[in-house]
Amino acid sequence: MPAPTVERLSVELIPAFKDNYIYLLREPGSNSVGIVDAGDSTPALAELARQELSLTHIFNTHHHPDHVGGNAALKAQYPDAVLIGPKSETARIPGMDMMVAEGDEVAFGSLSFRVIEVPGHTRGHIAFWTEAGSAVFSGDTLFAMGCGRMFEGTADQMWKSLGRLKSLPSVTRVYCGHEYTQTNARFALTVDPHNPALIERAAEVDRLRAAELPTIPSNIGIENATNPFLRADEPAVAEAVGLAGADPVQVFAEIRLRKDNF
Ligand code: ZN
Ligand code: FE
Repeated sequence: MPAPTVERLSVELIPAFKDNYIYLLREPGSNSVGIVDAGDSTPALAELARQELSLTHIFNTHHHPDHVGGNAALKAQYPDAVLIGPKSETARIPGMDMMVAEGDEVAFGSLSFRVIEVPGHTRGHIAFWTEAGSAVFSGDTLFAMGCGRMFEGTADQMWKSLGRLKSLPSVTRVYCGHEYTQTNARFALTVDPHNPALIERAAEVDRLRAAELPTIPSNIGIENATNPFLRADEPAVAEAVGLAGADPVQVFAEIRLRKDNF
């Protein structure tokens, strides 16, 4: 008999604003309860109350208001919750209790989140990865079939940051900051039009969105097969944007530019 699948990290989606996702984390077996990127406290507090949970951890991936705007209200309701965010954005995220940087580990029940620095969307953007929990919280760096805009970084930086996420185990579930998947798929097809995995996934995403269902989580294996921003080093993608043989950073920059104008 196959061993039963035991999910070591439970992740629930809390939609916020127009297309943000806040994540509610629990580690079955401990009282650890986490919230990732609460831009809006209202839906997060409502969900915590509904499930009668007491918040212990607040995770922030970067300083943008749609990711940190709910921090103060969450802390007001749960003063013992530890607010964790990027050390290099300390000045831009008020009230942090734990400032973390590359390689730091954050305990969450029996699990541990490793901090991965992924600058580009913002200078201090971080991702939280748990290997045992098989999940990464990628904020606005890696989206399903997309990546964040480079507000504070260069193409070279963003390509390297995405490379860090790309090399995580393929089963790692990807939880990103926004439901941008359907638009991302439409764009992806313009730069990687003959990719069978992408064509199939785009159709699946259309079905999910028609039924008003989330497309999250993805996983690293699926992203590596379908996300054009992770595939800038694929000859077919370079050729499709007229840059056959070019450096992947140049190809990546061209894809990002096209997406900015899509
Ligand atoms: Zn952002
Ligand atoms: Fe955002």
